[in-house]
Amino acid sequence: MILMTNILPEDKIEEIRKANDIVDVVSGYVQLKKQGRNHFGLCPFHNENTPSFSVTEEKQIFHCFGCGKGGNVFSFIMEIEQYNFIEAVRHLATQSHIELPEIKESNQKKISEEATNLLSAYEWLTKYYHHLLKYTENGEEALNYFKERGINEDIIDTFQLGYAPIDEAVTVDFLLKKGFHQQALIKSGVLSMKGQGATDPFRGRIVFPINNHLGKTVGFGGRAIKEEHQPKYLNSPENELFHKGNLLYNFDLAKNEVRKKGEVIVLEGYMDVITAYQAGFKNTVATLGTALTESQAKLLKRYAETIVISFDADQAGIEASYQAALTLQKIGADIRIARIPDQSDPDQFIADKGSEAFQLQVLDQSQTFTKFFMEYKQKDYNLKIESDRLEYIEEMIKHLATIKSSIERELYIKDLRNKFDLTEETLTSEVNRQIKKTTKFNQVPLPEPPPLLKQTNNRNKTRPAFENAERYLIANLLKNNYTKKIQREIGINFNLDIHKVIVTHIYALLEHYETINVSQLYDKVRDEELIQAITSIALIPINDNITEEEINDYLQTIHIQANEQPELDKLKKELAQAEQEADTVRATTIAVKIIQLKRDKK
Ligand SMILES: [Zn+2]
Repeated sequence: MILMTNILPEDKIEEIRKANDIVDVVSGYVQLKKQGRNHFGLCPFHNENTPSFSVTEEKQIFHCFGCGKGGNVFSFIMEIEQYNFIEAVRHLATQSHIELPEIKESNQKKISEEATNLLSAYEWLTKYYHHLLKYTENGEEALNYFKERGINEDIIDTFQLGYAPIDEAVTVDFLLKKGFHQQALIKSGVLSMKGQGATDPFRGRIVFPINNHLGKTVGFGGRAIKEEHQPKYLNSPENELFHKGNLLYNFDLAKNEVRKKGEVIVLEGYMDVITAYQAGFKNTVATLGTALTESQAKLLKRYAETIVISFDADQAGIEASYQAALTLQKIGADIRIARIPDQSDPDQFIADKGSEAFQLQVLDQSQTFTKFFMEYKQKDYNLKIESDRLEYIEEMIKHLATIKSSIERELYIKDLRNKFDLTEETLTSEVNRQIKKTTKFNQVPLPEPPPLLKQTNNRNKTRPAFENAERYLIANLLKNNYTKKIQREIGINFNLDIHKVIVTHIYALLEHYETINVSQLYDKVRDEELIQAITSIALIPINDNITEEEINDYLQTIHIQANEQPELDKLKKELAQAEQEADTVRATTIAVKIIQLKRDKK
């Protein structure tokens, strides 16, 4: 096993770890709730509706009871950002303003060189477009566009809004002078082909930099300001860094606010977000000109309890709201639909009526999905006609049957009753009949538990005494209890190989540190099985004032196993032999011996 930590001084790693509390770091990605000594949230590494992902502040570790992933703050960043160890350390060092020495990483680059170049090109371009907008005659018209919409200078800076010059050659020259290669830029879509040469695909447009969750620009959105420029809206093409279905506009700036409020507002356009942000609604994001995808929905659900959709009031906007709500419903999110009055859009509405009106008339009036659905579906029926009315009611009953909360169901049944002059009893019994029908025919088989969970569950039941003793000893080592004694009396002579490996790492740490913690141990290992074993041991509750007798008991149990295992193996071989020779008398005698030996051990 190559230890990547060797490249960095241990104290530096420790310093960075101490500066990055795991609860804070994980909170940047997952909404955590404190329950007892642990914090719980939805696991970012597997799909789930009930939180089984836990973070233990005291031990500075995380663990998912669903998929079995676990580790310390570095492992978490590695897993979620798909970084290698050095990249994760560097990331957390930057976050906590700790200087790191330059590290040469010859063979462990995760981000390709192409992507690094691309990031750098986007960074230069963002500054360049922004500068052109603010300080050049060229950008005046674009700047006026924002000013006319009441966007102030601070917001123009916050969102790094820009303008791409209309001249064919300027942007290309700018990038080539910075040392980028034209062919590479065309390939990744930063530039587009024009005859024999290259051109800026955004020329003559307002430019909105689109950032990833870390605030790095990975693409642009462009809006034409002159009628003759078509299409009106344009996005960077997809590449290694830019996946429209995974990114959300303004997510980098909104995510903390979203977590704090437990609510996110999803809008349709970049200008909607910018106007809302300026009006004080900082928990807003937008999709990138496409329908809300499941991956975006899941991301939002991890950060927010409630997801508010506030799209344009036109037919297309209502249709998109319905589609987005369906996607969110599929993943079990709490959905609200905030409709904009008067055929308007959020940008226009806020500009005309102000932020208070947006709060009172739009957000505060938001509907549940069912309420929205009941209204939305009316367009498919002519409710003045008897047969249509019946079909509509039938469709509503089917929908109501999918609602889990009986109180909520009752509420909508009352709505239907009032609207169609039906009795509540009839509606309730129809809904109940529908529930029975669907549970009978659509009994969805529960998903298979992940293999690890099955495994650990079984192992909990059947773990022999010696194995438990070994686990308790290791757990005590990690709590710095009797470390010298354990090391002296048993060394690495544990029965299970995996435990041998773990204690070897622990002893190595003890050579450098007076006291150690499990978090340090994670940096030493990369093997999944090993990490899971360590996590499972670290979660064993250990009494702070454990007595020496208890330790002796564990040691004793392990010694007995070590002494008796060879004997047991020998007997088993003999038994097989006797059985093969059909010597039943001898086989029985040996079997009894084996049973006795096994019983003594427990
Ligand atoms: Zn998980």
